[in-house]
Amino acid sequence: MALVFAGLVPHSPLLAPNIGREHRQLLAKTLKAFEELSDVLAKAQPEAMIIVSSHVDSGYNWWNANVALDYHADLSPFGDLLTNNSWPGALKLVIDLEDYLGLDLPLRLYSQPTLDYGTSIPLLLLGAAAQKLKILPVGYINNQPERQAVFGHKLGEFLRQWPGRVALLGSGDLAHTLGSDQPSKAQARGHKFDQELQKALEQNDEAAMLNMPQDLLNKTGQCAWLAYLTVNAAIAEQPGQWRNLVYESPFGVGSAIWHWQTSS
Ligand SMILES: [Zn+2]
Repeated sequence: MALVFAGLVPHSPLLAPNIGREHRQLLAKTLKAFEELSDVLAKAQPEAMIIVSSHVDSGYNWWNANVALDYHADLSPFGDLLTNNSWPGALKLVIDLEDYLGLDLPLRLYSQPTLDYGTSIPLLLLGAAAQKLKILPVGYINNQPERQAVFGHKLGEFLRQWPGRVALLGSGDLAHTLGSDQPSKAQARGHKFDQELQKALEQNDEAAMLNMPQDLLNKTGQCAWLAYLTVNAAIAEQPGQWRNLVYESPFGVGSAIWHWQTSS
C-alpha cells in the first residue's frame, strides 16, 4: 500500500506567519490542528505528496500537473516578501502517473516553479514534515465533477500499486459567506454548504457530494468541493474513516482539517 496519508486542509493566506501576524490568534485552533496533521504526516513517512487544489488552472478536457525540479513559495501578492521556502519535484511519480492514466484521463504537464498559495500555504503549515517531500501539484478538470470523481478513484488505484510511499492532500476553503457582514441568506447558504459537504465526506458519500445543490456550490465562494470529492474517491477502497481535526470560521470563511485514519 503506497498511499500512506490522505488529508484535507484550508489555505487562507492569513494562516501564514508573515501575513496573518496578530490575526493568527483567531485561527489558533486551525494552526494547532495543522501541527497535529504534521505529526501524522511525519509518522506516515511518505517520500512524495500530491496536492490537488483549485488554484492550479483547471483543464478544459484534461488535468494539469505542475512539474518542476524545484518549486518555491511566493507570497508577495499578499505583501509577504520574506517567505521563500522551497520543495523538490516528484518527477518519477508524475511520469508514472501520466502513463497510468493514459488517454482516458489525460494529464498535461506544464512547469511553474512559483507555487500558488493554494499549494504553498498548506506546505508551509505542515512544516518540517513537508520540508523534504517531493511534491506534485495537480488541478481539476473543468465542469465535469463525475469525471473528476473517476480521476480520484484512478489516482487512488495508481498510488496503491506505485512502489514508493505517497501522501495525498486536498487543499480548499469552505464557504466564504459566513461573516456577519453578509446577508443572512448568504450566511445560511454558506453554513448549509459547509455542513452538507462535511457530512457527505464523513459518510464517504460520493453521490451526496456529486448531488450537492448548484446554488450551494456556486454562490458560497467555496473552493473545497472538488478537493473533498477527489481525495475521498482516492481513499474509497482503503479501510478507515475520516476524522475531523478542526472546523472554524473566524473571518467568515469556513476552514476545516480532515485526516483519513486507516483502520488496518
Ligand atoms: Zn481557495
